[in-house]
Amino acid sequence: MQEELLNSVIKITKTRDIDSLEYSLISTIQEFIGCDEIAVYKDLAVPGELTLELSLSLKHISKREFEWGERKIIKEPSSELISCLQSACIITVQSSSGIEKRWIPINLHDRPVGAIEIVSKGLKSADQVLLNAFCRIFENYLTILHENERDKLTGLLNRQTFESKLKQLVEKQVLKQNRTVWTDDNRKKQQNACSWLAIMDIDHFKRVNDTYGHVCGDEVLLLLAQKMRHYFRASDLLFRFGGEEFVLVFEPTSLESIKSKMEGFMELIRTTHFPFVKTLTVSVGMSPISPYDFPINVLEQADKALYFAKDSGRDRLCFYDELVANNLIASNQDDTDIDLF
Ligand code: GH3
Ligand code: MG
Ligand code: MG
Repeated sequence: MQEELLNSVIKITKTRDIDSLEYSLISTIQEFIGCDEIAVYKDLAVPGELTLELSLSLKHISKREFEWGERKIIKEPSSELISCLQSACIITVQSSSGIEKRWIPINLHDRPVGAIEIVSKGLKSADQVLLNAFCRIFENYLTILHENERDKLTGLLNRQTFESKLKQLVEKQVLKQNRTVWTDDNRKKQQNACSWLAIMDIDHFKRVNDTYGHVCGDEVLLLLAQKMRHYFRASDLLFRFGGEEFVLVFEPTSLESIKSKMEGFMELIRTTHFPFVKTLTVSVGMSPISPYDFPINVLEQADKALYFAKDSGRDRLCFYDELVANNLIASNQDDTDIDLF
């Protein structure tokens, strides 16, 4: 038992990203404790409201059958889950039929950021001790991973995580394409739907720093990042790539819907009152991503579209494919024919 326990700790702490960490935690709890359902919930930290996501779940269907549940936003979280997050205390509820539900808070820097939900037929005290210990190991390791994945100023994903996050998203896309029904009820399978990558760069940001100072510039970056998190979906990947440059990756959707979504964001920024700076605009370059593309090529394509947007007046959204089709820029294909390596 001791050896198995040590191995499980090694397994949990071997992971290098948060999604795999959640997967390891749930499989470890299932292996050592055995429950009817285990779920990880996350507070998406949307300013001004409580938005919770079911990040990953495992359901015990029959003797040897388990079902993994996918990421989704919880429209009506249970009152116990909300109390657990607000009080940062373990909440337990026992039904008359002997089913026990337990919510254990997960803290990051002493603030509840999520909870583990356990549905069982009642846990023995030794199992409760073990469960709490697993959750604390998860919490400690989550803190380290979280700090490594995030940009210090804005809290968005940092550039170093780009390749691995993109790979996960694309793998998910392939899995979904092979299924008939999508579990995401908002963004149903559409014809011509593909993932999209956007590079967004603040227009004339140097002027903000030069006129109002670097601290004000940082405030602007922080507020812009908050707006991004609030406006886009939890499943969209938002990176701060460098100074005032952001990369956004969207799950499959049509050209029309991503265009109107992005234009909506640009309008939000135009109409937002930023500290000191009255108005701010951004330029955006976009490119589709298929599971067979190299991330570096997609980035280059979006970057070409961004530079076209800058050159043609700023505060614009440009699509790489459209620019190539209209002979406004050269296709990347033309360059890569020459220097493949
Ligand atoms: P353009 O419209 O062509 O993008 O012009 P720009 O002034 O935004 O672009 P440029 O690349 O010339 O300048 C980017 C500026 O971003 C330069 C630098 O002072 C500022 N910057 C980069 N990182 C940070 C940061 O972390 N904080 C602050 N306050 N400013 C930053
Ligand atoms: Mg700029
Ligand atoms: Mg820039």
